[in-house]
Amino acid sequence: MEALREQARELLDETVALRRTLHRWPELGNDLPVTREHVLGALDGLPLTITRHTTTSGIAAVLDGGRPGPTVLLRADMDALPLHEDTGLEFESAVEGQMHACGHDTHTAMLVGAAKLLSARRDEIAGRVLFMFQPGEEGFGGSALMLAEGLLDLPPAADGSDSPVTGAYALHVTTNLPTGWIACRPGPMMASADMLLITVTGRGGHASQPHMALDPIPVACEIVQALQSMVTRSIDVFDPAVVTVARITAGTTNNIIPETAVLEGTIRTVSERTRAKVRDGIRRVAEGVGAAHDAQVKVDFFDGYPVTVNDPGSAEFALDVAAEVLGADATVRLPNPIMGAEDFSYVLNRVPGAMLFLGATPPDRDPATAAPNHSNRVMFDESAMAHGVALYSAMALRHLDRSVSASAG
Ligand SMILES: [Zn+2]
Ligand SMILES: [Zn+2]
Repeated sequence: MEALREQARELLDETVALRRTLHRWPELGNDLPVTREHVLGALDGLPLTITRHTTTSGIAAVLDGGRPGPTVLLRADMDALPLHEDTGLEFESAVEGQMHACGHDTHTAMLVGAAKLLSARRDEIAGRVLFMFQPGEEGFGGSALMLAEGLLDLPPAADGSDSPVTGAYALHVTTNLPTGWIACRPGPMMASADMLLITVTGRGGHASQPHMALDPIPVACEIVQALQSMVTRSIDVFDPAVVTVARITAGTTNNIIPETAVLEGTIRTVSERTRAKVRDGIRRVAEGVGAAHDAQVKVDFFDGYPVTVNDPGSAEFALDVAAEVLGADATVRLPNPIMGAEDFSYVLNRVPGAMLFLGATPPDRDPATAAPNHSNRVMFDESAMAHGVALYSAMALRHLDRSVSASAG
């Protein structure tokens, strides 16, 4: 394990250089042509079978090991966010209004590092490693599109043996943990995130004569309140939900009653059961409040990412490997899921695996107060990438070794 850590450290300069290039040229969504070329350039010369996806800028790269065995998937996301960067870093974004504020540039660079490290250890790999470079994590469903394009439908291994994908792992950097710490938990890891849109329709009129109109604004306000009561009174606190109405739009000026009021919000849950229950409750409450006031209410849900569920065995395995690579003191078992959402959920719905957080807080910052992911000021400690490269690699090697010994046993 020490040799592997040392190799990851030796790769750090290259990993940092690639990360800085990606950071300077952030791209959004599922079409990331510049990013893809940089990644392909960095992978050039490695013994990989590379598939360029056509529905997105996704890249699937397969490394065939020296011995037969199953395939393990390692995921990095490559997309950035639509905001102006205010870090003042020397390599800060050169694209106005776009920034790698979620650290996906570090993930991509770490996965390239792992591809280099594992390529150098090809002979000892018992199976294959599938490196998944996905676009569109930030709400564009890039991983679902890569799955639909056949990401997991791999041909047989080079020697003709069947080599299905039996495990999948992803790392995500965070400034909520000290550098080099790992956090994970078995079971629900991140929430589902659905969008909510409620349109309340009344009748417009003069603001001085509300009885001649049907004012949708008080109805909309009642719906906002009633939704919060519905959540706290009908959802099990140990299988929780968050419903936030984050935007209310109605009216144009002070003396007109508008015809409509529109509510927009987000729904977060950590189980599919509660996800369905909350949707039923929102529809019932919103339509019921509308009916009480004779207003029409239309409720629409827009599916976001499903719940990210870590397979319990895979999460325990990943925590064990992390303890070995980074030390037991730096390995945290999260007590609760995080209410953010993740595109990797689609992969974990198909393959048992785990997603882990990797601490990357700059040494002069406190994880309690450091600018968080998605902030215009977030900065990540690049030295954490050596830990990430080592951990990605160790999880792949151990996962495949474990499969071989399981089938031998
Ligand atoms: Zn993000
Ligand atoms: Zn992210």
